[in-house]
Amino acid sequence: MIQRTRILGLAALAAAGAALFAAGAGRPGAAPQTAGEAAPQAAGEAAPQAAGKGDGTEAKPAAGTVRIYSAERKGYVGVGRVRKSDEEGKEELTPEQYIVTRKGGTEPAFTGKYWDSHEAGIYKCVACGTDLFDSRTKFDSGTGWPSFYRPIAPENVDTRSDSTLGMIRDEVRCSCCGAHLGHVFDDGPKPTGLRYCINSAALRFAEEKE
Ligand SMILES: [Zn+2]
Repeated sequence: MIQRTRILGLAALAAAGAALFAAGAGRPGAAPQTAGEAAPQAAGEAAPQAAGKGDGTEAKPAAGTVRIYSAERKGYVGVGRVRKSDEEGKEELTPEQYIVTRKGGTEPAFTGKYWDSHEAGIYKCVACGTDLFDSRTKFDSGTGWPSFYRPIAPENVDTRSDSTLGMIRDEVRCSCCGAHLGHVFDDGPKPTGLRYCINSAALRFAEEKE
């Protein structure tokens, strides 16, 4: 998968170079420069993570990286976008985690692991480990799903309109790997008035160590 993507990428670069020369617009130095910059990137850090072409997540300024908040480092970090194949997802996740995070499923209310949890800690993405929600923003919504009034940082989640099941809702995804987490509604408590209604199956809880 990675190999194929890389070969396609290089082929595309070569084609672009050829097109430039054909049009007479390319300076001799242009093509090698582009290829030289792209090669280490493809072979380096991105390799273990980047597989496949993604699933339609909107482009961010720097393709392939995302700036997110890290609870451990207490600050922002730049991380590579995680793109795993469907096969990898199936291998690494339980069937329920897979259906929720990859297929946009919803676990039945009051059945998940975390809807009634009150321990102090951080809820992370079950698929890639990105910090998503702080237990201090969790509240009892009575819905049977873990509910938070805000994400740990706005950058750590992506929100987009979702019109499935005949409803207009705002879907919430992990901004690092695109995993479906749940939906956000505007009937939450203060201070935000938002209710992030999240599937337990999309989360992995890490207890506070201090
Ligand atoms: Zn994730």
